[in-house]
Amino acid sequence: MLGSLHAVRAGRPRVILLAVAAALTAAGIAGVLLLAGSRPPGEARAALRAGGGDRWPAERGFETPARLPDLGPAWAPPLEAAGRPIARRLEVGRGDTLMAMLVGAGIPRAEAHEAIQRLRGRFDPRDLRPGQALLVELAPRAEGGVRLASLALDVDFARRLRLERTADGFAVRDMVLPVVRRPRLVTGVVEDSLYVAGRARGVPDRVLMELVRLLSWDVDFQRDLQPGDRFEILWEELERTDGGARRVGEVLYGRLQVAGREIAFYRFERADGRVRYYGPDGRSLRKALLRTPVDGARISSRFGKRRHPILGYTRMHKGVDFAAPRGTPVYAAGDGVVTYAGRKGGYGIYARIRHNGRYATTYAHMSRLARGIRRGVRVRQGQVIGYVGSTGRSTGPHLHFEVLVDGRQVNPLRIRQPSSERLAGRELERFRRTVAAIDALRARLARTDLLASRE
Ligand SMILES: [Zn+2]
Repeated sequence: MLGSLHAVRAGRPRVILLAVAAALTAAGIAGVLLLAGSRPPGEARAALRAGGGDRWPAERGFETPARLPDLGPAWAPPLEAAGRPIARRLEVGRGDTLMAMLVGAGIPRAEAHEAIQRLRGRFDPRDLRPGQALLVELAPRAEGGVRLASLALDVDFARRLRLERTADGFAVRDMVLPVVRRPRLVTGVVEDSLYVAGRARGVPDRVLMELVRLLSWDVDFQRDLQPGDRFEILWEELERTDGGARRVGEVLYGRLQVAGREIAFYRFERADGRVRYYGPDGRSLRKALLRTPVDGARISSRFGKRRHPILGYTRMHKGVDFAAPRGTPVYAAGDGVVTYAGRKGGYGIYARIRHNGRYATTYAHMSRLARGIRRGVRVRQGQVIGYVGSTGRSTGPHLHFEVLVDGRQVNPLRIRQPSSERLAGRELERFRRTVAAIDALRARLARTDLLASRE
C-alpha cells in the first residue's frame, strides 16, 4: 500500500494519495490512554512463576510478552484443588471465533459458552481480529481434561480484559495498562518525496500517511509538492511500561511549506469529545464542497439513469443539472486549481477544478467564463468562475455540475461531506491554549534536538 504513496511520474518522484484514509481508519487507536502505575505483582503470579516458570512466549501479536498478567486473589483456590495450570497463547486466525478457539483448546463447550457470556458487554466476540492473541490458563482436572482458569485479551493498546474463575463462575476485570507517552518532533526538507524524506528522518509510515491525509484538502500532493519544500511533524509515541511494547500515538501538529504557502495544523479535542485538526486561526482542516454552486437554482435533473432529452436514449446522467436564468454566476465548489477552462464538445463552455488529490468538480454549458479563469489558476471556494448558459448539447439554460472522486463521477448530492467548521467563543479560547502548549512543546523539543546534535 505504501508503494502507492510514493510514485514516480514524468521523471520526478511525487507523493500521491491513494486509499490513505481507509488505511488510517483501520490503523486508528480507539479510546483514551490513561497513565497508570504498575500494579504490585500478585501473590498468585509469584507462586505460579516460582512453581512453573511459565512465561508467555514472546511472539508477534501479543504485546506484553515479558510479564504474566496480574492473576488476582480469586483465582488461586480452584487451581490448588486441580493442580498447576497450563498457560497457552492462542492467536486468532482468519475466520476464528472465540467459541471455536476455546473449545479447540480443550475447554468444555458449556464452560466456554459461560466464559463468553461473561465477556459480553465489555467485549463483542465479533470484534476479534486476526493476529490478536488470547492468553488462557487451563487447569487440569482430577478426572482428566482441563477447565478454564483465566483468560486475558488485550482489547486496546492500553486496555486488557481479564476473565477469572471464581468460586461460582467467572468474573471479568477491565485493566488499564501502564502507558507512557513520548512526544517526537521531526523537521525535514522534501527532496524526492515527502514519504522518502519523512522515512529518512525516522517518521513512522502511519504518521506520514496521517500527515498526507490531513493536508490533502489544502495540498495537491501530486502537483504542488516540490523539492525544497519543508515539513515539520509532532506526534506521540506510546510505550507500555510492563513489557516495552511500543506504538505510534496521535499526531499533535504538522506543518508544510509548499508552493510558497505554509499550512499548519493542531490537534484539538472539542468539548463534545471529538478530535479534529485546525489551522492556527481555528478553522477546520476539512473543507466542504458547495453542493449547489449557483444561487437560486432548482435541480432540473438528478444523478442517475435517464432518457437523454436530445439524444433520445436512456443513459447515465453523471452529474446534477441546476436550472437557472442565463447569466447567473457559477461558483467554485471548493478551493482548488483550474485544470480546464474553455470549450469541450457537448459540454459547451466548460471548467474543471481540481480540489485536492482526490476531488475535482466540473461545470458545463456555461455562457462564458469569468474574467481570469484559465488553466492553472488557483480559485477559492465561492469565487465566480463563469455564468449559466446553454452552450454545447443543451436544451436550455442550466449548469451541468459533476463531482469526481478519484477520477470517477459520483452523485454530488450524496457524497459524504466533511464539515467546514470554525472554532469560536470558549472553544476558540481553549484551542488557543492548546496551540500555546503545543508550540511550547515544539520549542522545547527543538532545543533538545539541537543540544543532542552538538554532543
Ligand atoms: Zn446534466
